[in-house]
Amino acid sequence: MGKHGCEQATGRIMLGRPLPGTVRETQRVMHVFPEPAMYPGGIVAFCGAQFWTGDLEWCERPAGMPCVRCLAATPLPPQALP
Ligand SMILES: [Zn+2]
Repeated sequence: MGKHGCEQATGRIMLGRPLPGTVRETQRVMHVFPEPAMYPGGIVAFCGAQFWTGDLEWCERPAGMPCVRCLAATPLPPQALP
């Protein structure tokens, strides 16, 4: 891993969202994950949503619509997100 940005501020979290076609477009929100995923494998977001790693695209920084439930459950400092 070692991507800049959120990792330095918060420790080990990952930002990811479902790839196009895996879910409905309105559900393609950016979830927050507590740890780098095992590849291949399942991963659970802070909001409790479960994903297969191959169905996610990983973001270095917040992009698009965030998952509100993930944000509420994530131990992020406020300045880590726009
Ligand atoms: Zn979420």
